[in-house]
Amino acid sequence: MDKGKQEKTGKKYQIIRLIHKVDGKILPLFLISAVIETFLPYINIGMPALILDALSKKQGKETIIFYIIITVLLNAFILLVTSILNYFKGMRSYHFSNKYSWMKTEKIFTMDYPYLEDSDFINLRQNIRYNDEDTGAFTGMPGRIAGIFQACLSIGIAFVSFVTLFVQIIFSIREKEGQATPWMFVLLILFICFSIWTVRKLQKKAEKSIPEMTEKVVSDNRASMYLAEEVVHNYSLGKDVRVYEIDKLVIDEMEKMDQSYTEYCRKSNKVTTLPGAISSASSAIISGIVFSVVGIYALSGMIGVGSVVFTVGVVEQFISSISNLIFRMGDFSISCARLDAVLKLFHLPKLKRDENNVVKKAGQYEIEFRNVSFQYPKTDRWALKNVSLKIRNGEHIAVVGTNGSGKTTLIKLLCRLYDPTEGEILLNGVDIRSFSEKEYLELLSIVFQDFKLFAFTLGENVAAAESYEKEKAREALIKVGFEDRLKRLEKGLETSLYRDFEEEGVEVSGGEAQKIAIARALYRNASMIILDEPTAALDPIAEQEIYEKFHTLVEGKTAVYISHRLSSCRFCDTILVIHEGKLVQKGSHDDLVRQTEGKYYELWNAQAQYYMK
Ligand code: ADP
Repeated sequence: MDKGKQEKTGKKYQIIRLIHKVDGKILPLFLISAVIETFLPYINIGMPALILDALSKKQGKETIIFYIIITVLLNAFILLVTSILNYFKGMRSYHFSNKYSWMKTEKIFTMDYPYLEDSDFINLRQNIRYNDEDTGAFTGMPGRIAGIFQACLSIGIAFVSFVTLFVQIIFSIREKEGQATPWMFVLLILFICFSIWTVRKLQKKAEKSIPEMTEKVVSDNRASMYLAEEVVHNYSLGKDVRVYEIDKLVIDEMEKMDQSYTEYCRKSNKVTTLPGAISSASSAIISGIVFSVVGIYALSGMIGVGSVVFTVGVVEQFISSISNLIFRMGDFSISCARLDAVLKLFHLPKLKRDENNVVKKAGQYEIEFRNVSFQYPKTDRWALKNVSLKIRNGEHIAVVGTNGSGKTTLIKLLCRLYDPTEGEILLNGVDIRSFSEKEYLELLSIVFQDFKLFAFTLGENVAAAESYEKEKAREALIKVGFEDRLKRLEKGLETSLYRDFEEEGVEVSGGEAQKIAIARALYRNASMIILDEPTAALDPIAEQEIYEKFHTLVEGKTAVYISHRLSSCRFCDTILVIHEGKLVQKGSHDDLVRQTEGKYYELWNAQAQYYMK
């Protein structure tokens, strides 16, 4: 087998394995149903043929009535069984599609973070949306596979009858010279082969061109998809859209996307429907030829009335099953080609680490950055260069620097979202990569600059869980200064945030949201708390409140406080100054502000102008 073919077969096998992994019972159910459905047409071909033969041979009334009753009973039985199976198939398909969506979501939730910021991964997500979610390529797979199985079974049954008839007629022709010749059959077989060849060729073209077309439309429409998903569906952006009349930009972009997507659908529909159309047309021609041939032989008396009905029925089944098989095989291959991106998603490897070390619970933790340098993937700029620092147990550290200096990057490395490009980060002298990720992350509580709250209840947001300790959640909210607001909420912790699901949901202000996010970090009760620009959205009074409470908030914990507002860092034990990815100064506020040549002095004075006014 050549490599391309091997790859394709491998892909199909992987898809079948994935179906089995999503729901091991769905394929057997669809296959059983296919077997039963295959017999129905043959009963309705065979039984009327028996009845007609009995009539033409003038057999007794009882025989005929017996055949009729058997026909009705068999039909009723099969229809009943298929209806029951259809019910189960429907239920199973629903479960199958939900479980599949969940598996994709779970994969995305648990994959290494760098993928999420990688543009290739964003394209992959888009590709999955166009090729799989919009077309049902994967969820329709059990039906497609069962269809292929049913067509093969039907061909098998019809083939035996068809060959018997063929041989019988060939012998009859030899006996009756001057009648129609076997050439008709030879032509027929040639025509069938030609049709199969044409349809397969077109299908192969479709299998090849669909992924290429999608790749193109996905990369053309990335900006538009961002607008469609982030701007149109995110109602909290409604204000900006109105004030800045962003709607014009969105509409123009959407129109552009609509044009290219329509063009994509036109081309992809053309290549996918053409094989089906040709296959149907060929079937019609083949049926015409077969009926004419059988008609000629019936007129010449070579076959009886019952046999004519049976033969015509079987031949019709044979042809429709062949055309069905070709169509379904093509449909299956095209759908497999559409699932390239899904397979890629499930195969994205996890970074291999030797995570054998155990994080000691309730210990003293010291973090050390040793000569750490970092470049974001696919960039050649150093976001951090040769950073060495220590964060001692219980120490309150501030990291300051202008925007883009590398503060958040430092935190991303500390949280193991990325691994250092050079150097290492140590926890109590051991590389953090060697600890189990889950155990290591349990040590940390983080409020990111772009934190997210969810449209769940306030309590669930604080606890990041459905069931939680109410008193502990309340305490965390009180600690961050949310007490007055909490008292004003009729449903207290049970209040739903935002109006995505609940009409009575509460819209919290940016500052309130930030307080809730800090409360969430406190609820977690981790040993180290990291606050990335935690007061950016707070009003001056709330900001002051957080500063004053900072030591109480993080009492007994190691705290890393990141800000470009220097006034908010004065109270930390040590201040680290980052500039253009390098650690340029380190010390207490009083020490640093005295070093008039230093970056801290420059930043402090630049900002102090505003505080002094
Ligand atoms: P700060 O938090 O100090 O504002 P960051 O750590 O966010 O700065 O960014 C440091 C540098 O890294 C900046 O030049 C920024 O543009 C770059 N950067 C941040 N995130 C990414 C990313 N995902 N891919 C590439 N470059 C990035």
